[in-house]
Amino acid sequence: MVSVPRRLFTVVSAISLLLCMGWLLLWMMSIHRSDQFDTYDGSYHYHCLISSAGQLLIIYHDDSALQTMRTPSHPSTPWQHSSFPYAQHFLMGTGNWLNQHGFAFEWHEPVPVFAGNGFRSFSAPVGRETLLQFPDWVAALFFAVLPAGWLVAKRRRLKRRRIAENQCPTCGYDLRASKNRCPECGTPTASIPP
Ligand SMILES: [Zn+2]
Repeated sequence: MVSVPRRLFTVVSAISLLLCMGWLLLWMMSIHRSDQFDTYDGSYHYHCLISSAGQLLIIYHDDSALQTMRTPSHPSTPWQHSSFPYAQHFLMGTGNWLNQHGFAFEWHEPVPVFAGNGFRSFSAPVGRETLLQFPDWVAALFFAVLPAGWLVAKRRRLKRRRIAENQCPTCGYDLRASKNRCPECGTPTASIPP
């Protein structure tokens, strides 16, 4: 009977593996083209994701200062996808090692707000913009940790079970007639507790 935590670990690891593979796919697709997903939420916020050149850039734009100025928000729009046949590095900041390797976290204030017609109005620079950028490999690596842990745990369980059943922990060969060394793969067995 498989325990509930172990089953949960398996399910979460499987989801994590799918996310890891999805991110690797995103990374490959971003090498030669750029994809942008963005939306206005109708309450003074603009959200944008840009995948390009092996990096993901997340932009969060806040125009809520307009609310205190009694100016209506840009109307809401559903998530829109735009695709461009070129890849572009979004290297923000300069000089430091993290920026040069595709990492960035920036906060800009004030910046121009989105006006009612969808274009940025330069007359009222009261917006705030937060930018977060990281390379795709970081996300892929992050989502690979759990599946790797799952694999290690599975191998450890198998090894424990083989030792308990008097089998070689490396290849599973029956060791009841052997001493010191597995005749199949050569693994020393003298150190294995009976
Ligand atoms: Zn063996």
